[in-house]
Amino acid sequence: MPAGMFLRSSWGASHIADPSGKLTLDTYRLSTGNYLSAPIPLKKFVDYGRWYQRQVVPDVEKRSVTDVEAGKHGFQLTLADGETFTSRRLIIAAGIDRFLWRPVEFDAVSPELASHSSEHRELGLEGEWQWNRTVHC
Ligand SMILES: Cc1cc2nc3c(=O)[nH]c(=O)nc-3n(C[C@H](O)[C@H](O)[C@H](O)COP(=O)(O)OP(=O)(O)OC[C@H]3O[C@@H](n4cnc5c(N)ncnc54)[C@H](O)[C@@H]3O)c2cc1C
Repeated sequence: MPAGMFLRSSWGASHIADPSGKLTLDTYRLSTGNYLSAPIPLKKFVDYGRWYQRQVVPDVEKRSVTDVEAGKHGFQLTLADGETFTSRRLIIAAGIDRFLWRPVEFDAVSPELASHSSEHRELGLEGEWQWNRTVHC
């Protein structure tokens, strides 16, 4: 999401689920003392997500998985740095960013002139830049 945006979902629809139902936005707000308004600013929601992660899975490793193969006793995983290991169970939650779609009509147009919305983080500055560019063309 671009910087400075607010979540579209309401407060009640933005708690990250957990089996105990305790790691809500309200618990985050109470236990960290961080002020949270509605609609929820993206930056604060990301902070809530990181707080949630520290409560339930503090030992996350930030490494990319490049290959997964199913075997008789589980899965063999290969990481971007070449390390391999096996795991009896595997949950993939890789998100949607690899599924961005550009209509075929734009195939002949360079990505610089017709970019995908997911590539933009700072809409304010870029918008101004594009406006000036259009005027000069
Ligand atoms: C513009 C926009 C606005 C949105 N607004 C809202 C909203 O207001 N409210 C709401 O509830 N939802 C909203 N959503 C949807 C919400 O962001 C997603 O549903 C949610 O983030 C999905 O979570 P996820 O954990 O499945 O995937 P992600 O949050 O995308 O996480 C996937 C993770 O997997 C990692 N990963 C990917 N490939 C690999 C790999 N090969 N190896 C290792 N790691 C990998 C990525 O780096 C990433 O950290 C919005 C989405 C967008 C795009």
